[in-house]
Amino acid sequence: MVEPRQSVSEIKDSDIVFRCPYCTKSLVIDRKAAGLSVRCTDCGKTIQVPGGERPPERREAKDPYARVRELERSVETARGKIRRYEAELGEVHARRVHLEKEHAADLRTFEAIARNLETIKQALQNITEALDKRE
Ligand SMILES: [Zn+2]
Repeated sequence: MVEPRQSVSEIKDSDIVFRCPYCTKSLVIDRKAAGLSVRCTDCGKTIQVPGGERPPERREAKDPYARVRELERSVETARGKIRRYEAELGEVHARRVHLEKEHAADLRTFEAIARNLETIKQALQNITEALDKRE
């Protein structure tokens, strides 16, 4: 059985710090012992080593602004995404304006062709009539 140490000894990054649920003694054990049953060095009861996480108070004491910085990074990432989406939206809008202009130009071309066809049809009709008169 792996033995925990009392937390007065040196604590390494690979250690888990936890309290005995019976006598509340602060204990230290290597992370590898997470989830294992061990015997409390103080009261001798069999206790379970918590699941591999360092107690939050230790992590916060080490870096109280870590969470704030993490949130700031999230916000910055979100802002970056928003800027990219805005840029994409701008491109889509510009593309749409361009296509609408092309569409309008196409419409004008088709209208011009239709007018020309009407003129040709009229001219053919005139020719037909002139030929009819000759007979
Ligand atoms: Zn104990």
